[in-house]
Amino acid sequence: MHESSTYDIAIIGGGLAGLCMGIQSAAAGFSVVLFEKEVYPFHKVCGEYISMESLPFLQRLGLDTDQLKLPVIKKLLLTDVQGDEYRFALPLGGFGISRYVLDSTLFNIAVSKGVKAVTNCKVHDVTFQDEMHFVENNAHPCTAKIVVGSFGKKSNLDVKWKRPFTRMERGGKNYVGIKYHVRYEHPHDEIALHNFKDGYCGMSKIEDDKSCLCYLTTAAQLQAAGNSIRKLEEDVLYQNPRLKSIFSSATFLYNEPLAISQISFAAKSLVHDHVLLAGDAAGLITPLCGNGMSMAMHASDILFHIVRKFLANEISRSEMEAEYNQQWSKQFKQRLFVGRTVQNFFGSPVTTRLFLKTMNSLPALSRSLIRATHGKSF
Ligand SMILES: Cc1cc2nc3c(=O)[nH]c(=O)nc-3n(C[C@H](O)[C@H](O)[C@H](O)COP(=O)(O)OP(=O)(O)OC[C@H]3O[C@@H](n4cnc5c(N)ncnc54)[C@H](O)[C@@H]3O)c2cc1C
Repeated sequence: MHESSTYDIAIIGGGLAGLCMGIQSAAAGFSVVLFEKEVYPFHKVCGEYISMESLPFLQRLGLDTDQLKLPVIKKLLLTDVQGDEYRFALPLGGFGISRYVLDSTLFNIAVSKGVKAVTNCKVHDVTFQDEMHFVENNAHPCTAKIVVGSFGKKSNLDVKWKRPFTRMERGGKNYVGIKYHVRYEHPHDEIALHNFKDGYCGMSKIEDDKSCLCYLTTAAQLQAAGNSIRKLEEDVLYQNPRLKSIFSSATFLYNEPLAISQISFAAKSLVHDHVLLAGDAAGLITPLCGNGMSMAMHASDILFHIVRKFLANEISRSEMEAEYNQQWSKQFKQRLFVGRTVQNFFGSPVTTRLFLKTMNSLPALSRSLIRATHGKSF
């Protein structure tokens, strides 16, 4: 265990971007501290469908996917607000695993590689002076040459640093995400995306024959239901007969749903006062694309290789930041744009139906759209 309070790399946020960055960096011999405000294992709002593009990377990091016996998903079922079905093949496909299992398994790998983990600890601020960052928190204040901000969709640090997207949210572009684990009979190899007014609900299998049931809608719609999730579901989601049937007959595995609010898909900066941002902290792709997790992991891979050059004195800090901006944009900018554009078609029952009918009758177009929101294996 690293005793010093100066590190090569400090990572704020132990989700997929942070954990993958930590594992790679510690395995390469760097001293790494990782701060996570929660305690593993814990649940997270997420559809828990991972695009296949990140499987080789996860296996390289040490995730034993064979032992976990995860469902492999190859088909996409979409239903419109009336419950009519549209079926598509997924060119690359994906697999299902809960964040409860995935994040805690990666956390254990990170610790085994030598990452100093500080959990149950929220970082309050980071200041930069004389080429060093100071990481402010109550449990383990420390300094680091590099700080990676992998603190997710919206954190206290976004607000503290007054990042522009936090101000844009007041304009009303806020979403909420709600998640359950359920038992429900449906095909292991299929992810379903059931639409409802101003939102969509994904369902796919994860480990142990459980299913993840997760939906996204606007904060305004939840407010209109008096901030009652139950009322929202009954008044709005149940308009789609498929959702009514699922919610009425599934066995729910938690008493209360898991919910997050203030989700924004606005563009974000990649560097803030020399803190390098990765994963959702750098930009969140709309969940209907089903690959935010792969993007978070891929960004950590890109970032790790650039940071390694900086720590080996091969490039300067400004060269490192410029290279990260350039490589990140090349890999992800277009995908985020396509994701946002496609999401605009979902919401109004009329445009959703029209969009799905068009996609269904033009398989080549639907295939290229799915490809445009996904990357190649890494
Ligand atoms: C409704 C919904 C459904 C989705 N479904 C899918 C899907 O099916 N497939 C897919 O690939 N993607 C999906 N996504 C996207 C996916 O969840 C994210 O892209 C992914 O989790 C990003 O990982 P991350 O590491 O950036 O952030 P996170 O996994 O959110 O991790 C950030 C971590 O930082 C911690 N943290 C925050 N602030 C601090 C602080 N100050 N100090 C210490 N710790 C801190 C948090 O506790 C958290 O653990 C979905 C997103 C939503 C909203």
